[in-house]
Amino acid sequence: MRTWLDFILPPFCCVCEASTTGAPIPWVCRTCWDNIPYIKPPLCHQCGAPFAAPPEGIASPLHRCETCLSHPPAFAQARAVGLYHGTLQHIIHVMKYRSVYGLNRPLAQLLHHQFAACWTPISIDVLVSVPLHRRRLWQREFDQALALARHLSQAVQIPCEAEALIRQRYTQSQVGLNLMERDQNVRGAFAVQRPQAIRGKAVLLIDDVYTTGATVKECTRVLRRAGAEWVGVYTLARVGAGAPH
Ligand SMILES: [Zn+2]
Ligand SMILES: [Zn+2]
Repeated sequence: MRTWLDFILPPFCCVCEASTTGAPIPWVCRTCWDNIPYIKPPLCHQCGAPFAAPPEGIASPLHRCETCLSHPPAFAQARAVGLYHGTLQHIIHVMKYRSVYGLNRPLAQLLHHQFAACWTPISIDVLVSVPLHRRRLWQREFDQALALARHLSQAVQIPCEAEALIRQRYTQSQVGLNLMERDQNVRGAFAVQRPQAIRGKAVLLIDDVYTTGATVKECTRVLRRAGAEWVGVYTLARVGAGAPH
């Protein structure tokens, strides 16, 4: 029997359409939630890209991938909870493009659960989310990266500086652009409006998805220029090795 609640919380999973009755997370059934493709070592020490197999003859956890060796990113380290495909991609899509705000808290809990594994022993001073431009905020109704950062901030007791970094220029969506076009598209898009909030600090940038890293690299450049001591990147998902660049 359908109740009034079903109209607010649909009883079907947004991924597989199975019933979500009794599921702990609205919109996602237990099976799909348990199928989130978590990223496991071995990883590139810097960008966090998972290696298909342990790099031959190299046992060091500090090993870096070829992309990081040839073009070292500005950020110190990037880590993600899961791979951006299958279940996790679907859930993030629903949260982002259908503005399902209720999914933000369980997704932020994923960031919380993996936080110690990803960031020990680094002492992080402040969380900063990758900002949306006002125009895109208006289209999407909410800023998912900021919502994730705020939930995580409460959970790990590290302050979130919501207004420290702003997007000063509207940029077209990165979807469909190649690596060089992505870099050009975001060049000059960000600015630090409150340098005192990040100067001399270890800053952890929060976003939903790491694709080529063009956006977070540009944010890192701007944060470092404004005096951030260290910048790391923490996302819900990232594309795996061999993904289109
Ligand atoms: Zn499902
Ligand atoms: Zn790498």
